[in-house]
Amino acid sequence: MPVGTQATVKNMNVEGLKAVGAQVLLANTYHLLLRPGPDVFRKFGGIHRFMNWDRPVLTDSGGFQIFSLPEDRTMSEAGARFRSYVDGQLHFLSPESSIEMQRAIGSDIMMVLDQCIASTAPQAEAEAAMHLTHRWAERSLRARGDSPAALFGIVQGACHRDLRLRSAAHLRTLPFDGLAIGGLAVGETDQQRYEFTGLVTGELPSHLPRYLMGVGTPIDILEAVHRGVDMFDCIIPTQLAQRGTVFSSHGRLHCRRTVYKFAEEPLDAACDCSTCRQYSRAYLHHLSKSDEVLGWQLLSIHNLAFYHRLMAEIRAAIVTGDFPAYYERQRVALVRDDEANPAVPPAPARTRSAPRRGDYEIQTSPQGFSSIRQISSGEVMHSVSAPEDEANRLYVEQSGLARRLRRRSPEDEQPLVVWDVGLGAASNAMAAIHCTERELASAGPAALRPLHLVSFERDLDPLHLAKRHASHFPHLRHGAPHGLLNKGRWGHASGAIDWWLLRGDFLEHLEAAPPPDLIFYDPFSSKTDTALWQPDVFARLHRHCQPRPAELYTYAAGTGVRAALLLAGFFVAEGVGTGPKATTTVAYTRSEGLNGDSASPKLLGADWLARWRRSDAKYPADLSEAQQAAFALRIEAHPQFAPR
Ligand SMILES: [Zn+2]
Repeated sequence: MPVGTQATVKNMNVEGLKAVGAQVLLANTYHLLLRPGPDVFRKFGGIHRFMNWDRPVLTDSGGFQIFSLPEDRTMSEAGARFRSYVDGQLHFLSPESSIEMQRAIGSDIMMVLDQCIASTAPQAEAEAAMHLTHRWAERSLRARGDSPAALFGIVQGACHRDLRLRSAAHLRTLPFDGLAIGGLAVGETDQQRYEFTGLVTGELPSHLPRYLMGVGTPIDILEAVHRGVDMFDCIIPTQLAQRGTVFSSHGRLHCRRTVYKFAEEPLDAACDCSTCRQYSRAYLHHLSKSDEVLGWQLLSIHNLAFYHRLMAEIRAAIVTGDFPAYYERQRVALVRDDEANPAVPPAPARTRSAPRRGDYEIQTSPQGFSSIRQISSGEVMHSVSAPEDEANRLYVEQSGLARRLRRRSPEDEQPLVVWDVGLGAASNAMAAIHCTERELASAGPAALRPLHLVSFERDLDPLHLAKRHASHFPHLRHGAPHGLLNKGRWGHASGAIDWWLLRGDFLEHLEAAPPPDLIFYDPFSSKTDTALWQPDVFARLHRHCQPRPAELYTYAAGTGVRAALLLAGFFVAEGVGTGPKATTTVAYTRSEGLNGDSASPKLLGADWLARWRRSDAKYPADLSEAQQAAFALRIEAHPQFAPR
C-alpha cells in the first residue's frame, strides 16, 4: 500500500497510482481528523469521492502518530488527549472516536486504536500497553456497529516473546477480519524484527490477512513474506525518490552520482514504467541534482512500479509453488548496489588486506566470487567456480539428492544419511539443505524421507569467517549455519532436516557416525591432508558403510586417489568435470546397477588401468617394495577390470 497520509500519495495523481499497479492506499486518521476534519468527509460521502480514488482505502487508527508526540499528549484508560499541530486545539482520540472518524472517512479497512510503545520498552511497560491495547480492541469492535468495513486488530508486546505470543493468542479469539503486527520498525534491529515477525505469524490464524505495519524496504518485505506476512505499507518508495535513490533490477541506484551525468540508457531497462520508457538516466540525474519536483515525481513512479512488480512476482511465485527458489534469488538480488557502477572502484586485490581468521582468509576471484583460502597451505576451498555452484554440480546434482529424498513407499521413513566430510564454509552442506527445502516446497514433507546431514570438521574458523562476511557468501544467509555454530546441531522446523556437527579429527569420529548413504568427500587435498586419502582410511569407510550400498563423491581425480579407493574395495567411476577439471571421482560400495545404461557413470576401465601402470604416482607414499607388489596385484585383480 502506498502511503497517502493527507489523502494524497506525495507527488502522485490517481492515474499515476493506478498505472504503477496500486490496488489499495493507506490514509492517516490522525492527520485527516485535524485537517480537513470529519465534516468535509461527511459532506463528500467519504474519501473515495473526495480524492477521486475508486479503489480500497485502509486507514490507520492514529495510535502510531500519538505515540510519536510524547510531549503533547496525555494517555488514560479512556484514550489520548493531544493538541493539534494545525490550530492548537485540544482533541481527544479514543477507540470509539477513532472508529467514528474512520467511518466518516469511508475507510474499507479500519484499524483499532492501539497503544504503540518503543520496541525496546521493558517488560512491565510493554505488558501494561498490551493489556490496554486488548481492552481498546474490544471497545473498537463494539464501536464498529453496522459498518460494512473490515476491522483489523493489532498485536503488540514490544520485543518480549511471551507478550507477543499472548497478544496474538488473545486477538485471534476476537471477531476481526484481519490481524496486524504493530510496534515493529520502531527501534529494534533487523534480526529482531524478522524473529518477532516469524514468532507472531506462527500464532495467527491462516485464513485471515496478516499486515506488518510500516515495513519496509524490498528486502524487509521479502523476509516478512517468507515469515508469513501478506500486507505492507511504507513511505520508502516516495521518500527515497525525493533523495534520488531508486530500486532497480540490478541493485539500488543513487541518481545524483556523477557517473550518470551522460548516461543515455533508461533507469532500469527491465522496467516498463512510464519513467523508464521515456527518460534517460542523465535527465533524471539532472532533475534530481537540481531538486526539481518533476525528478521526485518521475523517480516515485519508478519506485512504486518496482514495489508493485515485486509484490506481483511474490504472489505469482507463491501460487506456482516457486516462492522458496524466488526467495533465495531475491534475498541476494535485493540488497545489491548498482553493480555496473560501483560506488568505490575495487582496489587491486593485492593491496587490499583480505579479512582473515586464524589460518584462513577470504579470497575474491577475478570473476567476482569469494572463497576461503588456507594461508599456510595456500589451498582454496572451491577454487574453480562460485562455491555454491560447484557444491551443487559436484555433490547435490551428481548424487541425485533430490530424487533420493523421495520416499520409495508410503511406509518408507528411513532417513537419508549424508556425510559432509570437510565442512569448510558449509557450501556443500547448505547446498544439500537448500535442495531439501526446494523439495519440501514442491513435494511437501509427506513425500520426503528425512535428511540426516552429518558434517565433520576440526576447524570452524572458515565457517566463522565466511559467516561474518556473509555478503560474500550468500548461501550462509540462513538460520542453519548459525544453529550449527551455536549448538552443534540444527533442525528444520518440519523435522525434515537434522544437521549436526562432529567436531574434531574425521578419523576419530568415522565409526561413531551413522553409516552413510552418500558421502560428500571434500577435505583438503592429499598434499595438505595426506592421511585422509590413504587406502586404509577408505577401507575403514567401506567397512563402515556395509551392508547398505553407499556412494562417495569427491573433487579429486588423481591416479593415486582412485587407486586407493579401488584398493579399499570401492568400484570407481569418472564424475562430472568442474571448472578446468575434466573429471572428478565417484566411488560405489557395490557394482550392481552400474554401467547398466548410458546415463549411469562410466566405471574406470582397461584404458585407465593402462594409464595407472605407466603412472609415476601409482602407489601411496611410504610403501615398501613388497607392499607395492601386493598393492599392484590387488588393483590388477579388482573385479571392476575383470573381462566380461
Ligand atoms: Zn521504471
